[in-house]
Amino acid sequence: MRKVIYPGTFDPVTYGHIDIIKRAIDLFDSVAVTVAINPTKEPLFTLKERVEMLKESLSDYDNVTVESFDGLVVDYAKKVNAIGIIRGLRALSDFEYEFQMALMNRKLANDIATIFLMPHEKYTYLNSSIVRNLASLNSDVSDFVPPEVQKAFKKKFSKKRRLSHK
Ligand code: ADP
Repeated sequence: MRKVIYPGTFDPVTYGHIDIIKRAIDLFDSVAVTVAINPTKEPLFTLKERVEMLKESLSDYDNVTVESFDGLVVDYAKKVNAIGIIRGLRALSDFEYEFQMALMNRKLANDIATIFLMPHEKYTYLNSSIVRNLASLNSDVSDFVPPEVQKAFKKKFSKKRRLSHK
C-alpha cells in the first residue's frame, strides 16, 4: 500500500486543491488529506468546518480520507505509515517556501519524500485567501470552489454582514 498525506490549511478547499488530490489518487493507493490545526494562522473556517467541507467535496472519490493533525507533518506521516507528503506547486512564488519545507522535512525524516504536483494551468492563480476575499465581497466564486463551500461562505458572510449592520 503506497499511502501519501496531503497536508494544508484548506481554509477553504478550492478546485485547485481538488485537482492536486485527483492527480495524487492516480499515482498512489491512498491519499489522506490532513487538515492542519494551525496555530500560526487565524483561519476563517473552524477545523470542523474545513474537515466537513473537504469530506463533502471528496465524497465521490475512493481511497481518499480526510483527517486533522497537530504537530510535525513528518511525525504524522510516519504515524499513519505514509511514504510521502504531497504539496501543490502553482508558480515560482510557491517554490522558495516549499523548497525550504521539503528540505527541512527531509532532514527531519529522510525516508519521507515530498512529492510536488502541478495543477491545471487554470488553477495556478487560485488560492484560498483570494477566494475568501472575493466571497466576503459577495462575488461569485462558483468557478473556484465546490457548491458545499459556496454555501458555507454564504452562511458565514451573511451572518457577519447581519452582525456588522447591528
Ligand atoms: P498551507 O497553509 O499549508 O499552504 P493550503 O491549504 O494553502 O495550506 O495549501 C495546501 C497545499 O495545496 C500547498 O502545497 C499549496 O501550495 C497547495 N495549493 C493551494 N492552492 C492550490 C492551487 N490552486 N493549485 C495547486 N496547489 C494548490
